[in-house]
Amino acid sequence: MKVSESELGELRYIKGVGPKRALLFQKIGIRSVRDLLYLFPRRYEDRSHFAPLNNLPLNEPITCRGEVMDVKFKPIRGMPLVEVLVGDDSGTLRAVWFNQPYLKRLFLCGQQVILYGKVEFYKKDLQMSSPEFEIVESPEAESIHTGRITPIYPLTEGLFQRSLRTILREAVEHHLDSAITDALPPELRTGLDLMTLDRALREMHLPSSFEELEKARRRIVFDEFFSFELQIFLKVKAIRTQYQAPAFKISPELILEFKRSLPFELTKSQEKAILDLVKDMGQTVPMNRLLQGDVGSGKTVVAAFAFLAAYRSGLQSAFLIPTEILAEQHYRTLLKFLEPVGIRPELLTKSTGADKRARLIAELKAGKVPVVVGTHALLQEDVQFKALGLLVVDEQHKFGVHQRNQLLQKTPRPHQLVMTATPIPRTLALTVYADLDISVMRELPRGRQPIKTYWITRKKQPDIFAHMSLRIQKGEQAYIVFPLIEETEKKDLLAAKKEFERLRKTVFKEFRMGLVHGKLERSEREAIMRAFSRNEIDILVATSVIEVGVDQPNATMMIIENAERFGLAQLHQLRGRIGRGKLGSDCFLFGEPSTDEGKMRLRLLTKLNDGFLIADEDLKLRGQGDLWGTRQSGEPLFRVAHPIADEAILLQARQEAQKWVGGISGSLPQKIPVWIQKYLEQMPKTD
Ligand code: ADP
Ligand code: MG
Repeated sequence: MKVSESELGELRYIKGVGPKRALLFQKIGIRSVRDLLYLFPRRYEDRSHFAPLNNLPLNEPITCRGEVMDVKFKPIRGMPLVEVLVGDDSGTLRAVWFNQPYLKRLFLCGQQVILYGKVEFYKKDLQMSSPEFEIVESPEAESIHTGRITPIYPLTEGLFQRSLRTILREAVEHHLDSAITDALPPELRTGLDLMTLDRALREMHLPSSFEELEKARRRIVFDEFFSFELQIFLKVKAIRTQYQAPAFKISPELILEFKRSLPFELTKSQEKAILDLVKDMGQTVPMNRLLQGDVGSGKTVVAAFAFLAAYRSGLQSAFLIPTEILAEQHYRTLLKFLEPVGIRPELLTKSTGADKRARLIAELKAGKVPVVVGTHALLQEDVQFKALGLLVVDEQHKFGVHQRNQLLQKTPRPHQLVMTATPIPRTLALTVYADLDISVMRELPRGRQPIKTYWITRKKQPDIFAHMSLRIQKGEQAYIVFPLIEETEKKDLLAAKKEFERLRKTVFKEFRMGLVHGKLERSEREAIMRAFSRNEIDILVATSVIEVGVDQPNATMMIIENAERFGLAQLHQLRGRIGRGKLGSDCFLFGEPSTDEGKMRLRLLTKLNDGFLIADEDLKLRGQGDLWGTRQSGEPLFRVAHPIADEAILLQARQEAQKWVGGISGSLPQKIPVWIQKYLEQMPKTD
């Protein structure tokens, strides 16, 4: 990569940054002094107290200070070793550095030095090996590497801790004022008791105390949340004022008619969700709602009502689903709910035959297909609707924003409902799904028995198999699930096949077994699933394809092999395939996790049944979590802020953003207050 003088830009003027370092910074996205000031330490170490040399604790990092009394250079077996003797009023300490011969010229007798490292016994003496050090130039000079709360920066190739600290101090002390303007209005800042930006940045890099550092962090976290929420609310406002959706005509009788057509009573959660939809879809403001419900909570029924409402308003609907297997399953479930009210949905995936596809495309365009269920195949250019009024998306994170936009960017704009079975904590929902209104279904249909989950060691396997055999003889069914991950797909599939063969010939030879995996032809897969749902197969061995969607109330047992290879949320989803009928269900996790976190995951699952509680715990285990805390590009959503730990600040920022954006009248973006524009210009953009 070649960089021109002008591209090297302002970074060059910082002492310690030459063209070479400027390039290294550029590689990690740092182009301006501002960028540099937002390169925050990963953590801090308290090196502010000096321990007396005669009383140094062993084997833990400490900071001490003394005078250089002797400097020796003595190669040991060819390896250069610099040895420095340091003393204070109480005693002396030896510090050694290997392979850094130039150090012998750096230390001079009589100098004051600060050392940071671990003290160990070497032969009979105490010594500190390769400590971080700083030579105290004058007694007053502020120390940066030691003798204070010391920032530890994230390291990248070619940029070392000591030089980063020096460069950042330089930037803070000499360039901060010209690089930074605090765009936050002073009333807002003081009202929320926030530090000024320049002070906060200074404290982040050169903390004067842990209390001040905490306040500085609060300001930076607020900025991250506030700019994020401002952008979201502005986007939502823009959509609401720019686009119009068709208002559905939904009478109370329609809801009654739908309820009468169902073979069961709706749960309170389902009723509430339906009312949320009725309210949204009855308006010309495009609906943008998230339906969050645990596995088995009955989301498809709610979607079915939305399809009915669209249909009776003379509009078409599309149901976008991430995988083909799932699309097939949803299609079958929907048939159950829609046929009784006179709607015949259609299925469009890449396996749809050419003739059928051509017919479907013509009919969609002519407005003759009321509801189409499908995969990415729905996003092809030639798939056109006569009047698309509603888009329902399942498990939205599997579709890019741009992909969905293809269906949404129509005039008039369709209402949108996003469904997810991944319960996420409320605060996280406020960030990840910040632009959506949320309906939550925590309740399961009546009569469901909680699943009992056991974490089993291999030794107990025969007992489990015996227990299963008894229940299967009574007519119940079981799943045996094998993890299959992309990287080791072939091997995983082989393992599943081998175990299938073994079980079929040994312990389960009296039962009917089936094997289903993603490499099978669709027709074959369908045949097996159908046989299972007709109870013509007792035990279904499956790779993780059954993860979402299969619905067989008679299946009451599940074994999950190598359970340690699944994430907590995924295990919970899998297990949601059982416990759907009136009988009690058992889930057996086979797995030997090697980490404490892995063990904790399996243990949690044996204790908790509520997906929302599990999601909370999952988040605590994994921090932000890779699934939810990232942008489309894979970068973390926030650099410093943590949506859970910083919940209070998040709520504050959200409230402020709502207030300011709510106060804007007139057209966007022209009417956005100047300070908000300036403020956002300085902040990283959301997707
Ligand atoms: P999920 O939320 O996991 O997508 P589904 O919509 O697939 O759940 O529903 C799971 C099963 O529960 C389906 O068989 C569905 O017919 C059934 N179901 C949905 N709602 C109810 C209810 N209120 N009472 C009884 N069964 C229901
Ligand atoms: Mg579902």
